[in-house]
Amino acid sequence: MNINDLLKKSKDGGNFSRDELVYLLSFPPESEASFRIMAEAGRISRELSGNQAEIHAQFALNLAPCACNCAFCSFAKVNGVFTTETRITIEDAVAYARQFEIDGANAIYVMTTAFYPFSDFLEFSREIRRHLNPGTVMIANVGDQGIENAQIIRDAGYAGVYHALRLREGRDTGLAPEGRIKSIKNFQEAGLIVGTCVEPVGPEHTNEELADMILFTASFNPAFSGAARRISIPGTEMAKFGMITELRMAQIVAVTRLGMPRSVTGNCTHEPCTLGGLAGANLFWAEVGANPRDTQEKTEEGRGESVESCKRLFRECGWAALSGPSQFFKVKLSS
Ligand code: SF4
Repeated sequence: MNINDLLKKSKDGGNFSRDELVYLLSFPPESEASFRIMAEAGRISRELSGNQAEIHAQFALNLAPCACNCAFCSFAKVNGVFTTETRITIEDAVAYARQFEIDGANAIYVMTTAFYPFSDFLEFSREIRRHLNPGTVMIANVGDQGIENAQIIRDAGYAGVYHALRLREGRDTGLAPEGRIKSIKNFQEAGLIVGTCVEPVGPEHTNEELADMILFTASFNPAFSGAARRISIPGTEMAKFGMITELRMAQIVAVTRLGMPRSVTGNCTHEPCTLGGLAGANLFWAEVGANPRDTQEKTEEGRGESVESCKRLFRECGWAALSGPSQFFKVKLSS
C-alpha cells in the first residue's frame, strides 16, 4: 500500500477498505502525505458541489440537564454545567428560524435534548414550518425515535434529521448503539434524509475506530458525513483527554471524504475553520441558543458561529456560499 496508489484510486472513484482508511489516517497531520490527502478531498468536494459550500443553522428548543449523560456534552447531568431546564417560547423559536432564513442558511435545524416532550416539539415545529418559505429545508435533531414518530416528524414538514452513532457510543454515552442505529433506519424508512458525522473525535480515538465509523456512515448513504472534534467542557472527566488540533480534524475530514461514495455530496466539519474548508469540508454550522459544546446558555455569546461568519470562513478557502435550499438534501430527494 502506498499513498500514490491510494490517491490514484481516489481519482478513479474507487472505494476504500478499512485498512486503507487506517493507513490514510496514520500519517502525521502536518506531513506531505496528509496535505496531499486533504488536497484530493478538497478536489472531490468542490467537484461534487460545484464549489458551492453550504451553511446549516441550528437552534435548540430547550436546555436541560440530560440523564443520558454523554460524557462530552455540557447538558449531561453528570457534568453539572446546567442544573435547571429552560425552554424557549414558540415566538422565540419562530424568530430564530426566520432570522436564519433571512441570513441565508441553506437548512434550519431544530434541536431538543433527548427527554423534551415530543408533543411540544411537534407543536413548535408546525408553527415554525408555517412561518418559513415552503422551499426552506427543515431538519430535526432529536433523540432516538421509533418508526411512527419518524413518520410524524416527516409529516410535520421536516426533510430530514441529523443523527449520529457517536464514537464509543454506549461507553462514553448512556445510550445503546443499537438504538442509535435502529433510529437511523427508522428515519430513512419514514422518508427522512439523514445527515451524520464522525464525532466527537478526541485524541484517545484510534485510527481503527475512526475508520470503522467512517465506513459505518458510508454504509447508509447519508446526505452528508464529515468529522467533528470534541470540544472540552472544562472540569469534566472527558476534558482530561484534551482535544485534537484543527489540523488533525482537517485530516480526518479529508479521509472521511475519501471513504464516502460520490453519492454523498456533503462533508461537514465542526467547529467551522479554514483548515476544514481547505480539506474538503463543504458544510459548516451556525448556532444560536443552547449548544451541547458550550457552557454559555446562548452560544451566540460563546462558541457559536453565525451564518455570516461561516460564509466568511468559506470565502477565505476559496469556496462560494450556496444561495437557496440545501442541495445535499435535494440530491437525496431526487435520487
Ligand atoms: S448528547 Fe444529547 S442525549 Fe447525550 S447528554 Fe447531551 S443532550 Fe443528552
